[in-house]
Amino acid sequence: MQNAALDLLRTTFGHPEFRGEQAEIVDCVAGGGDALVLMPTGGGKSLCYQLPALLRDGCGVVVSPLIALMQDQVEALRQLGVRAACLNSTLDAATAAEVERDLLAGELDLLYVAPERLLTGRCLTLLDRAKVALFAIDEAHCVSQWGHDFRPEYRQLTILHERWPGIPRIALTATADAPTRREIAERLALEDARQFVSSFDRPNIRYRVVQKDGSGQRALLDFIKDHRGDSGIVYAFSRKRVDKTAEQLQAAGIDALPYHAGMPAAERAANQRRFLQSDGVVMVATIAFGMGIDKPDVRFVAHVDLPKSIEGYYQETGRAGRDGQPAEAWLNYGLGDVVNLRLLINQGEAGEERKQLELRKLDALLGYCESTQCRRQALLGWFGEAHPGACGNCDNCLNPPESWDGTDAARKALSCVYRSGQRFGAGHVIDILRGVTTEKVQRFGHDKLSTWAIGADLDAKQWSGVFRQLVAGGLLEADVDRHNALCLTANAGPVLRGERRLSFRKEAPKAPRRRDRAAA
Ligand code: ADP
Ligand code: ZN
Repeated sequence: MQNAALDLLRTTFGHPEFRGEQAEIVDCVAGGGDALVLMPTGGGKSLCYQLPALLRDGCGVVVSPLIALMQDQVEALRQLGVRAACLNSTLDAATAAEVERDLLAGELDLLYVAPERLLTGRCLTLLDRAKVALFAIDEAHCVSQWGHDFRPEYRQLTILHERWPGIPRIALTATADAPTRREIAERLALEDARQFVSSFDRPNIRYRVVQKDGSGQRALLDFIKDHRGDSGIVYAFSRKRVDKTAEQLQAAGIDALPYHAGMPAAERAANQRRFLQSDGVVMVATIAFGMGIDKPDVRFVAHVDLPKSIEGYYQETGRAGRDGQPAEAWLNYGLGDVVNLRLLINQGEAGEERKQLELRKLDALLGYCESTQCRRQALLGWFGEAHPGACGNCDNCLNPPESWDGTDAARKALSCVYRSGQRFGAGHVIDILRGVTTEKVQRFGHDKLSTWAIGADLDAKQWSGVFRQLVAGGLLEADVDRHNALCLTANAGPVLRGERRLSFRKEAPKAPRRRDRAAA
């Protein structure tokens, strides 16, 4: 099997060797096994189902939610001589009929199908009559109700397993923290599948987080000065901010272009084309920009506003340095951003539970910003991955910030979560720590706990910071199914046992105003 796979990799795809765990994954699925694959964007997920589809009898059926990307993939495969096609709502009836005929005649290697199309009675009976090599479920995190890409149709994909239990399935995603991973396995009936979790580390990206100092885009301009002539992406919070930032960069002589959903489609497409085809263009964009963009030499990704979550931040910064050359992820955040985002979430249409989840994600990101820990360790920790030692390639490693020893506070906080039964959110646990008698404290008899009032030395705001950093550092996890009740994770053990010390960032000193800077 290995040799046949390697031959195909070389002859058909023109790659000399497998990357990371590709070989094992291909082997597993080609041999008829189920697989759940977590690999960062750009890691090479497509080959993990394309090769087994070619190695097995019949056609590989790929469920993919993004019609535009589907067409690109089919086009690229055809150029390699692979017989690929797609079925989605953009096809006219005659073309669709032709694809169906090819499939039944055994003349297709890969068929990309939109989930809503796959679930139609017509498509299901079509697949009954065809020889299917495997099912690949791309962007598998779309099954998670808590992710931002939730697709209700993904929930019904268990039908693949029920209707064709003998056909191997491979689910793939680039976004999945441990809870999402569990949810994917459960929702897609892939509990018994082999899990392949690649490292999410992008060692060539240098992470930097800088607090806003009230000087507008001065900080961004200073940052971009070091990237003269480089391609880069600047993410901003709103369309207005995008337009304004692009203008400011242009005024400073930088080849910047705006990109957001409010622009005419033609102009947007033209800007995207220029970014992809020329060197040294800086795209200023909302997060509408980036999905499926594969430009290898993006040298920096700058956020001039706080992103919505650590997952989003990781995904967005992951667009830098795909070619493996040094690249920078730079984030400028201010507490004003937090206020804006909170307001936006609270005023949104989403249900209460969803809002709580989004607020929790925002808190975790804020914890990341405030952390004094190695950024890479913190980011990877969020995805359930340990990084051995500090990375030496992030701001906290290169210029350690002023910090205070938070080991004692962390230990108090963790014990208090534990003593109160891991059933409450941060607010209540902080009341216990500070010895604040509330109705809830009395109802649960929490003033009798050994951790009652052991944290009176810090105020509520300081404790919030401690909890934020414990969540961001992956020592505490909030359970969405139980009103964000905090629970200890395995990472809490070493701190509770006194084997690991923690440090927290000191309140940033008031930054100088722009005028003072100019005078200095
Ligand atoms: P993902 O879907 O994980 O984002 P892709 O499957 O699109 O990633 O692959 C990303 C890039 O890496 C593509 O340009 C692909 O050709 C390339 N690639 C994938 N596997 C290999 C390999 N074994 N050797 C060299 N390049 C590879
Ligand atoms: Zn580091």
